[in-house]
Amino acid sequence: MARKEKLTIGLVGKPGSTLTYHTGGWRTFRAVISHEKCIGCKRCADSCPDGAPYECAHDGKKKKFCIDYDYCKGCGICAYECPVDAINMEKEEK
Ligand code: SF4
Ligand code: SF4
Repeated sequence: MARKEKLTIGLVGKPGSTLTYHTGGWRTFRAVISHEKCIGCKRCADSCPDGAPYECAHDGKKKKFCIDYDYCKGCGICAYECPVDAINMEKEEK
């Protein structure tokens, strides 16, 4: 699958093309997950419009999630949806 197509001004993307475009370059804030707090409910992954959260580790029986920063555009939806406040929106350092 092509995952590195360039985003151009005025682009209208095809439906279902989330993984084709790297939307992480739009970010002014980044979502950071605390693995201490994460209960592995997957709500962040289900609510992210760019498919950025992914299962990355297990802590005993609990799943943990990480963020793929090639795709996280910093919208904050995951932080809003997380039931245990495990996601912090931190100012992007560029
Ligand atoms: S929504 Fe919060 S608790 Fe649930 S998997 Fe994502 S970071 Fe973990
Ligand atoms: S901030 Fe937005 S784009 Fe980034 S992981 Fe959360 S929901 Fe997805």
